Amino acid sequence: MSKENRLFGTNGIRGVVNQDLTPEFVAKVGCAIGTFYKGAQLIVGYDGRTSNIMFAHAMTSGLTATGCTVYDVGAAPTPAVQYSVKHHKMDGGVIITASHNPPEYNGIKVTASDGVEIPREDEIKIENIYFKEKFALKEYSKIGQAHVLPGILDEYIEAIKTHVDVAAIQKRHYHVIADPGNGTGGLVAPYLLRDLGCRITALNANLDGTFPNRPSEPRPENLGDLATAVKTLGADFGVAYDGDADRAIFVDETGEIHPGDQTFALVEKFFLKEHKRETIVTPVSSSFVVKEIADSYGAKVVWTKVGSTTVSMMMKKLKTKLGGEENGGVFYGPHQPVRDGAMTTALVLNIMAKTGKKLSRLLGELPQYFIEKDKIECPNNLKEPVLEAFADSVKNLNVDKTDGVKLLFEDKSSILIRPSGTEPIYRFYAEGKTRQRATQLIEKYKTQLSALIKKTKA
Ligand code: MG
Repeated sequence: MSKENRLFGTNGIRGVVNQDLTPEFVAKVGCAIGTFYKGAQLIVGYDGRTSNIMFAHAMTSGLTATGCTVYDVGAAPTPAVQYSVKHHKMDGGVIITASHNPPEYNGIKVTASDGVEIPREDEIKIENIYFKEKFALKEYSKIGQAHVLPGILDEYIEAIKTHVDVAAIQKRHYHVIADPGNGTGGLVAPYLLRDLGCRITALNANLDGTFPNRPSEPRPENLGDLATAVKTLGADFGVAYDGDADRAIFVDETGEIHPGDQTFALVEKFFLKEHKRETIVTPVSSSFVVKEIADSYGAKVVWTKVGSTTVSMMMKKLKTKLGGEENGGVFYGPHQPVRDGAMTTALVLNIMAKTGKKLSRLLGELPQYFIEKDKIECPNNLKEPVLEAFADSVKNLNVDKTDGVKLLFEDKSSILIRPSGTEPIYRFYAEGKTRQRATQLIEKYKTQLSALIKKTKA
């Protein structure tokens, strides 16, 4: 937490437990959040990490010291905590989570009364209170109370069910393999699937903050066991969640693992059949398949910077109902405009039940693109000058500068070149109608960027 006058990154506050993030630090952040919220009623929830209770208590001590009333909802997926804030008409919420980060991490996410992360301007207010230590500490008689609020997981499951055709799904008796990766998805997915009449096989479904079985991020390279289980057991599909279960990645019945924007495009297609001309929100890192589907229904796509909060904020601003991300997040506005792994699972089941088609076929019917990804090292201090020089060198092409530089070509191929917000690297995402085209784009622009990095260094 050494960056001057900044606490919040693109995904709340994150750090290594008892190095960056100590109980003392979290209590102080709690005092800042409590001062900002001025005696409000706030939910506190957390994921399944080993430091969850330690930090929830430290947070609660800061919030109550500054006069806020705290309702502890326990360990729960991030979207379940977000839903509880809205459902119980709270003033806001604090979630202790580091999402998919390794087990030594934890973090703090702050939400507004609708469960969506607070906007940047409110984060700045909290940061100012924190750094100036202007905490509104209350006298002994005005300290806030802390309560336990039980039952939010059931409320969340019931809410999800209202958005799908439960009877239609139940009739199919799907066999689903769920892999929460020892995260909080295990507290919801098996129960939701059971309610939807599925036969469920659970992998890594016990809560374990050491993530002993697979890394928490549901990347294809971490989902080999799930893919094998789906094939071996002849299941209808598999679904993997990240540590706080806002992301869901699907494995079809043949064992193929699909990127999040493919599943999103499938949800989008069926959503647009019923909501023609609705605007779809997605970051520039998503596949062009999202746009091709939107075009076929006369709908518009709004491309945003990469980051789940940006998508949520844009959906709120434009009052739109559907957003999605490449890394496995569908934002289903009629439920809540945030990434939600369990909601995404129910939506996919709903589509399967209504069409009677297998998941591989549904995904195979989408416009097909080949995607290649790569990265190169670039020192943090060179990222900006390199990006400027690169943008200048391609200014005669069709360029989108929403986030990094995205080059769009006539043959529906594209490449996004973007500095990582957290690591000293540049990332490349290329796609084309053939694998060869995607690979060619990566090779060409990787060479070009490497040369620019060398030149800028010199
Ligand atoms: Mg997450």
